[in-house]
Amino acid sequence: MRRPMVAGNWKMNGTRAEAGALTRAVAQGVDAAKQTEVLLCPPFILIPLVADLLQGGKIAWGGQDLNVHAAGAHTGEVSGPMLRDFGCRYVIVGHSERRALYGESDQLVALKFKAAQGAGLIPILCVGETLAEREANQTEKVVARQLDAVTNLVGIGALANSVLAYEPVWAIGTGKTATPQQAQDVHRFIRTKLAALDNGIAAGLRILYGGSVKGGNAAELFGQADIDGGLIGGASLNADEFLTICRAGG
Ligand code: PEP
Repeated sequence: MRRPMVAGNWKMNGTRAEAGALTRAVAQGVDAAKQTEVLLCPPFILIPLVADLLQGGKIAWGGQDLNVHAAGAHTGEVSGPMLRDFGCRYVIVGHSERRALYGESDQLVALKFKAAQGAGLIPILCVGETLAEREANQTEKVVARQLDAVTNLVGIGALANSVLAYEPVWAIGTGKTATPQQAQDVHRFIRTKLAALDNGIAAGLRILYGGSVKGGNAAELFGQADIDGGLIGGASLNADEFLTICRAGG
């Protein structure tokens, strides 16, 4: 049985006051009796604030990215051990904005996945196709390539301690959600592909869906057989909306 997860990716948003109010509202509203694991991923600079507010509670916090190196001459970067030091349990790797806007290759993303685990963090590996790739029927090929880069580097065994997120690029922040069937088809493809390497790991792996998830569409998406929750961008900035999504996780 896979534990559902709803993760909020705040992206580059929030003052200290906004982050504090949002974190408090989510912490108060989250139903601790529910099974769904809830995670907040603020910008680096807000992590200490969020960590202080969530300390000792049920909600986890994590980073949106990390550098592959543990320390050293990498001006402007933040490492896995630094995130661990602030109590992060998870870190997002390979978000499509990192891939598209900051030129992160499949190979670099795989190295980040490895660095995250090396620092004791659980990577949330994002994969997904662009609109042009979907229209050219390349969805499975692109997702397979993104997954292969990671499994070739770290081996399928490493995925036991990770989370995947299928995020079609054309659905992120656009208001265009994949239909539950479109999303389920890709989630099933991912699980089947990984099952060829290790059935048990594929069966236990949580695969989140991300791309314009809202309170109104979360339950149907999360109700699909291979969708184990969501990675939520825009809607995670509104406590009520985010909590509605968390409740849809079960
Ligand atoms: C995301 O940032 O990972 C995301 C899915 O964004 P949104 O929910 O805004 O589409």
